[in-house]
Amino acid sequence: MNLASLGFFRSLRKDNNQFAVIGLGRFGRSVSSTLHKLGYEVLATDIDEKRVCEALTEQIVGHALQLDSTEPAALKEAGIFEFDTVIVAIGNYIQESIITTLNVKEGGVPHVVAKASSEVHRKLLKKVGADHVVFPEYEAGCALARTLTKPSILDRFDLDPDHSIVEMIVPDEFHGKTITEIQLRNRYGLNLLAVSQEGKFAINPEPNRRLERGSAMVVIGCNKDINRLPI
Ligand code: ATP
Repeated sequence: MNLASLGFFRSLRKDNNQFAVIGLGRFGRSVSSTLHKLGYEVLATDIDEKRVCEALTEQIVGHALQLDSTEPAALKEAGIFEFDTVIVAIGNYIQESIITTLNVKEGGVPHVVAKASSEVHRKLLKKVGADHVVFPEYEAGCALARTLTKPSILDRFDLDPDHSIVEMIVPDEFHGKTITEIQLRNRYGLNLLAVSQEGKFAINPEPNRRLERGSAMVVIGCNKDINRLPI
């Protein structure tokens, strides 16, 4: 998530309990089954009858329909335009993905999330009105490259292109030192938010607390300062 996504997520209604997912490939199935397991009503659709039957047999969703989403009439008849949020999960068929996104937006759906499979695809989806575009392969690739090059960083949340909140393994250099001694703010310009202890995090830890090798710490600050840490 980044700031560009903030407007979209803020505009989602908190009381929205229903989602429609178009396309039951790996991505569409994973979105559908997760929403379903979380207790939301999901209507899943696919042009392929077999995929629709599988979704119902495997109880991935409660409701599934076969339809061609490039046909506005089929979407209208299925009630897709009544949904507050529709996920267009068609990554590998660019033409179908673009036409579907256009149809759903023209049908008046306020929140349309679409999956892109390339940068051009992402741009086209935005042009036809997608409110939020995800590019899972690209995002997973970036995350993997970061993990491979900085294995001590366990997780990170990008606030904007320059600032992040990062969960990392306590560097060897900090082992046995107190929070005051490591001088995170003075030496690195970073703020320490939490330190792990026996599987739980202590938030705003005391300055005299000692850091231990193998435990985790969470810091917030500039990416260039985070990169200066001895990790
Ligand atoms: P993968 O499964 O390879 O990770 P993906 O999740 O992006 O990729 P796709 O291969 O793009 O999935 O397939 C998405 C689904 O969209 C397929 O099940 C396909 O049958 C369906 N689909 C394609 N065209 C249409 C259409 N016109 N209407 C409805 N569903 C469609």
